[in-house]
Amino acid sequence: MKRNPFFVVWAILLLLVSQLGGEAKKPKIYISVDMEGIAHVVNAQTSAGQFDYERGRKLMTAEVNAAIEGCLAAGAEVIIVSDSHGNAQNIIPEDLNEKALLIRSFPRPLLQMEGIDSTFDGVIFLGYHPKEGTPNANLSHTIWGTKFEEIKVNGLIVSEALFNAAVAGHFGVPVIMVCGDQHVVEEARKNFGPIETVITKESIGFLSAKSAHPRVVQMEIKQKAEKAVKRIREMRPFEIKKPVTLEIVFKSIFDAETTAYLPWVKRINGKGIRVELNNIIEANQFLTALFAINNRI
Ligand SMILES: [Zn+2]
Repeated sequence: MKRNPFFVVWAILLLLVSQLGGEAKKPKIYISVDMEGIAHVVNAQTSAGQFDYERGRKLMTAEVNAAIEGCLAAGAEVIIVSDSHGNAQNIIPEDLNEKALLIRSFPRPLLQMEGIDSTFDGVIFLGYHPKEGTPNANLSHTIWGTKFEEIKVNGLIVSEALFNAAVAGHFGVPVIMVCGDQHVVEEARKNFGPIETVITKESIGFLSAKSAHPRVVQMEIKQKAEKAVKRIREMRPFEIKKPVTLEIVFKSIFDAETTAYLPWVKRINGKGIRVELNNIIEANQFLTALFAINNRI
């Protein structure tokens, strides 16, 4: 086949510009950190006041540092860490790598994804856990364990990972790495494409799991984070269609009844409500409002 010489020159120029562009901008990474998927956080490590909580905080902070080190090794420049569990004050600030900025405490409009926008190049989920109702899944729940039985977005039952990936996807930002138990990793591989993953624990039951030594897990997180940032151009955002239909099944019939007092919320059955929203950001804000009105953490 005979090629047009102008096409060849154009293709070479495009390649050069894309290479130069890649070197010019250093990756900006957003790390959302939950706690239930951290290795060895299995039961009494998740809540302030429980006997082993301080160990949970240390393990969580160490996994975040491992991911930050990996990102830095791959040339990342700005790293924002979002503490996204419980009262969102679990990560120990003075023990965190000095190169990262830390977002702490709830409430905040975008909950576990506060601060994400289109200036970021990639998102990492650390310590993530499976959705409510997953069999034999350590500490599984969806956003608010005592309130939400099921959350659906456009008919799809979502985990926190799927929901938050869609929030990042709204801004065109891909998830590049997910760490948590085998269920979370399986879901991520199925939905987010060829991202990097670390199975931090093999869930046995709701309150039990098996993990390698913390340092072994942290070393793998560091290596995979470095690889993920280096492979960032291969990753694609997880996007969902607009507008968004958000459906919530509450655990209590009372919560469905009172949420449906809002004029634009439709009661669909005893414990279920539906709300039509413009996009996933509005869905996130709606969930956050329900959470914040009921909680002063
Ligand atoms: Zn969670």
